Amino acid sequence: MLGGMQDFELRVPRLLDHAAREHGHREIITRWADGHETRSSWAGVAHDSKRLAQALERLGLKPGDRVATLAMNHGSHLVAWYGTIGMGGVVHTINPRLFDEQLVYIANHAEDRVLIYDKQFQPIVDRLKSEWSSIEHYICFDSEGAGSFDALLDSETGDYSWYEGGEREPCMLCYTSGTTGNPKGVLYTHRSTLLHAMHAGSPSVMTLSARTSILPIVPLFHAAAWGLCFAAPLAGSKMVFSQVNDAAVLCRLMNSERVTLASGVPTVWLALFQHIDTTGETPGTVEQITVGGSAAPRAMISRFLDMNIKVIHLWGMTETSPVATAACPPPGWEDFSRDAQLDMLQKQGSIPFGVELRVLDDDDVEQPRDGISSGRLQVRGPWVVQRYFGAPEDAVDADNWFDTGDVAVLHSDGTMQITDRAKDVIKSGGEWISSVDLENAAVGCPGVAEAAAIGIYHPKWDERPLLLVVRKADSAVTEADIAAHLSNHVAKWWLPDEIVFVEDLPHTATGKILKTELRARYKDYRLA
Ligand code: ADP
Repeated sequence: MLGGMQDFELRVPRLLDHAAREHGHREIITRWADGHETRSSWAGVAHDSKRLAQALERLGLKPGDRVATLAMNHGSHLVAWYGTIGMGGVVHTINPRLFDEQLVYIANHAEDRVLIYDKQFQPIVDRLKSEWSSIEHYICFDSEGAGSFDALLDSETGDYSWYEGGEREPCMLCYTSGTTGNPKGVLYTHRSTLLHAMHAGSPSVMTLSARTSILPIVPLFHAAAWGLCFAAPLAGSKMVFSQVNDAAVLCRLMNSERVTLASGVPTVWLALFQHIDTTGETPGTVEQITVGGSAAPRAMISRFLDMNIKVIHLWGMTETSPVATAACPPPGWEDFSRDAQLDMLQKQGSIPFGVELRVLDDDDVEQPRDGISSGRLQVRGPWVVQRYFGAPEDAVDADNWFDTGDVAVLHSDGTMQITDRAKDVIKSGGEWISSVDLENAAVGCPGVAEAAAIGIYHPKWDERPLLLVVRKADSAVTEADIAAHLSNHVAKWWLPDEIVFVEDLPHTATGKILKTELRARYKDYRLA
C-alpha cells in the first residue's frame, strides 16, 4: 500500500527556487582577486543559472553530462554549480592545487565535456589541454569577450524551466584528494545533497538562518565547500565569496559585509590570528566559525572563545558529503568550566540524525561507547557514499558500513573523537600513539607554528614518534621547551624521542600535512 502524500522529488534546483522566491533580495557578494566587488542576490543567481542551463543545452550537453570547474570562490562559480545541476548535468569541481598527473587523471576519468575555469588557471589549461581527452568546451569565468562566462550568459534569456528528473540522479562529482593511489570520485545525488543541506544548516550543526551572512573560506572545490552553497539558499542566508585566500582581505570582507559565520580549515584560522596580532584588526561581526578538515587545536578553539566567537568543530570527508558530526554545546553548557568546554569542542562532536557510527577493533568486534576503546570508525547514512564513480563494486560492506580510514573512540555521552587516521597512527610496543594528539599538544606550545608527528622505525618498540616542528617567525623555542610543554599534555611514553626543527612542512592540495611525503623523507632516519 502507498501513502497518500505528494511525490515531491528532493531535487537541488528547488533550493534555488526557494531562495529566489522567499529570499530573493538576500545578497551574494564576490570580492575578486583584482579587488573589485560584484553584488548579486539569490534572485540574480537563479536568473543567471537558468541562462547557463540554456547555454549548456545549446552547447549540446545532455542530462548526466559532466561540467568541470577549476576555480576559486566567487558568485559565478556558484552559478556554474546551479546552472549545470539545473539542466540535469553533474558539476565536477576540480581542485587546482592537484598535481598535473592527478588533474589529467580525474578530468579524463570523469569524462568532463566542459571546463569552466578562472583566468589565473590558464597556464594549467594550456599545459594539459592536449592530455584531456573528453573536454570539448573551455569557458573562462573572469575574462571578457567571446568564450567568456559572461558572454555565454548574455546570449541567453533565462526563460527556462529546470530539467525534471528523479531525486536519485546525480548532481555533483567530487574526487578525494588521494594522498595514496588515484583520486576516487564521489557522485552525490540530488537527494543526498538536499538531505545533507537540511542537516548542515540545522541547529545541531551550523544553525543557518536568513540573518546569517556566510563567508565560506573553504574552497568550493573542497568537498562541496562543506555543503554551504546548498544549505545557504535553503535558509535564505547571505553569501560572501573571496577569490583570494588572504587573511587581510578576508578580515576586511568579514567586517564590510557583516559576516556572521565563516568556515575554514585550521590553517586558515592560524593565518587570521597572525593578521590580528600584527594589525590589531579583528572580525567584529563574526558570531561563529566552523572548523574541520583536520582536528581543531585546543589553543585555536580557546582563542575564538576568548573573542566571544562560537566554534563549531566538524568532522566528515568527501565520502560523507562531507559533514557527518558536529561538536555543539550540550545542555548545561553555560555552567561548564572553560576546560570542560574546550574538552567538548575538541572532540569531533555528536552524531546527528542521518548519520550512524560504529567503531571496530582489529578483529572486527564492535567497541563499547566507553571513551577508551578505539578502533576503525565506520559510518552509514543517506549522504554517505555507496560506490565510487566508475568503480566495479561497492565501497561499503553488506550492511552499508563505510570504513572511514579514521581511528576513533565513541564516548558514553554519544560524542565521537578522532584519535588518528589509520595510516598515520604510530604503533609503539603494540600500543597506539595518536599523532593528532601529539601535534595538537605541540601547537599549543608558545613559539610553535606547525607540528607533525610520524612513526620512525625503532628496533625495540617497532616505532617511536619523531616530532617535526616549524617555529613561528620570531621564535627561538627550543626542544627542551616543547618537551616540557608536551609532558603536561600527553602520557610519558608518548613523548617524542626527538624533536626536529624544519623550515616548513609539505601539505596536500586541501592544506593538510602530507604525511606520506614526510614518511618517505624520514624513511631511513634513525633515532639517536
Ligand atoms: P582527503 O581524505 O583527501 O584529505 P577529505 O577532505 O575528504 O579528503 O578528508 C577527510 C578526512 O579528513 C577524514 O577522514 C579525517 O581523517 C580528516 N578530518 C576531517 N575533519 C576532521 C576533524 N574535525 N578532526 C580530525 N580529522 C578530520
